[in-house]
Amino acid sequence: MRSTGIAALVILGLARHGSGQPRYDLLLQGGHVIDPKNGISAVRDVAIKDGAIAAVAQRLAPADALKVVNVSGLYVTPGLIDIHVHVFAGTGERQSYAGDNSLYPDGYMFRVGVTTVADAGCAGWRNFEAFKEHVIDRSTTRVLAFLNIVGNGMRGGRYEQDLTDMEAAPAAEMAKKYKGLIVGIKTAHYAGPEWTPVEHAVEAGTAAGIPVMVDFGNDRPERPLADLVTKKLRPGDIYTHCYSGLRHELDETGHVNPGMIEGRKRGVIFDVGHGGGSFAWRIAVPAIQQTFLPDSISTDLHVGSMNAGMKDMLNVMDKFLAMGLSVDDVILRSTWNPAKEIHHEELGNLSVGAPADVSVLRLESGNFGFTDMYGARLAGRQKLTCELTVHNGKVVYDLNGITRPEWTTLPPNYTATGDAAWDAVTPARRGGRAPAKK
Ligand SMILES: [Zn+2]
Repeated sequence: MRSTGIAALVILGLARHGSGQPRYDLLLQGGHVIDPKNGISAVRDVAIKDGAIAAVAQRLAPADALKVVNVSGLYVTPGLIDIHVHVFAGTGERQSYAGDNSLYPDGYMFRVGVTTVADAGCAGWRNFEAFKEHVIDRSTTRVLAFLNIVGNGMRGGRYEQDLTDMEAAPAAEMAKKYKGLIVGIKTAHYAGPEWTPVEHAVEAGTAAGIPVMVDFGNDRPERPLADLVTKKLRPGDIYTHCYSGLRHELDETGHVNPGMIEGRKRGVIFDVGHGGGSFAWRIAVPAIQQTFLPDSISTDLHVGSMNAGMKDMLNVMDKFLAMGLSVDDVILRSTWNPAKEIHHEELGNLSVGAPADVSVLRLESGNFGFTDMYGARLAGRQKLTCELTVHNGKVVYDLNGITRPEWTTLPPNYTATGDAAWDAVTPARRGGRAPAKK
């Protein structure tokens, strides 16, 4: 038994190395590629080598690839980008987004096709480096961050209502120190009448050359939404929770706030940020009917929202399918648009040379239902599920084992079946056993 297994491995090894290095590590064959940046929505093969996209074409030779995966009938998209999540877990702080309300990203992202997230302000300049050390640097998920204008971050009212801890200068300094990692400044949850949090966030964003994301907190007549998006924010700044209805996103007549339409003309970005309390059908459906579409689809994922109306990134995307957007429309708003918004244009696309973050999605038909922040339901006939997620060129999630060999074809005493060149799930070390789990 044992010798048969070794012989099989040797033969596999010879096939792999007999004619030198394969041209590609991984070939995703025959899927419907949606790559909005490059204007592609058609059946294509996608080849990956050394963690980057190596080729996208109508047909690529399977013999050139170490691993070929048939993905016909599935959508192949850039890895999804969710720019509003809460992932500063592990501090032990109760009822805090810099604590128990957050979750560790690797357990939740790859299984729904998300390869890049931006934390939406859990940390400010005082605790960002702790967040980086304990979560960002330890995650396989690409974790970027909006830095809270509040120095203590999103630790609850005592901190988030403190106008004296919203200093632009140290926030900008921290953002410049971690340029590329800190992709924006966040202001959130402010209840008072002052513009200070927004103004200081914009000041810090301007100094660091990055956008601001606004959760506009309590609705106050002293600071109307129209003024925020037409006067206070800059082009490229982001208004999140845009279908909450909590700040007159629709006016009394049921029309989209004219200020939002004006703000969009100025270049202000409108983001979903569904969350536990920021997405209502009675706002979103009329807004979409009036063609006020979101620039980016995001979840506002945290331990509360994911068990309430918001489930995960694909569920929020499904909701926009249910409201009549096409799959292409939805993919644009969950890949290339958010990549541009956070100034990471190397992401969210499948250009040759781009980091090989790829999601393989199945569009199911059936009777589904989707719920909002108030528990109201909208029926839908389509639902996306994630079959396969590739991150930096390696398979990190494979729902139905489409990359895996049938067990009956393997040696009797088989162990790890993958190859470290394309597999991060069960990679066999060349000529040896699988590495021990960390
Ligand atoms: Zn949030």
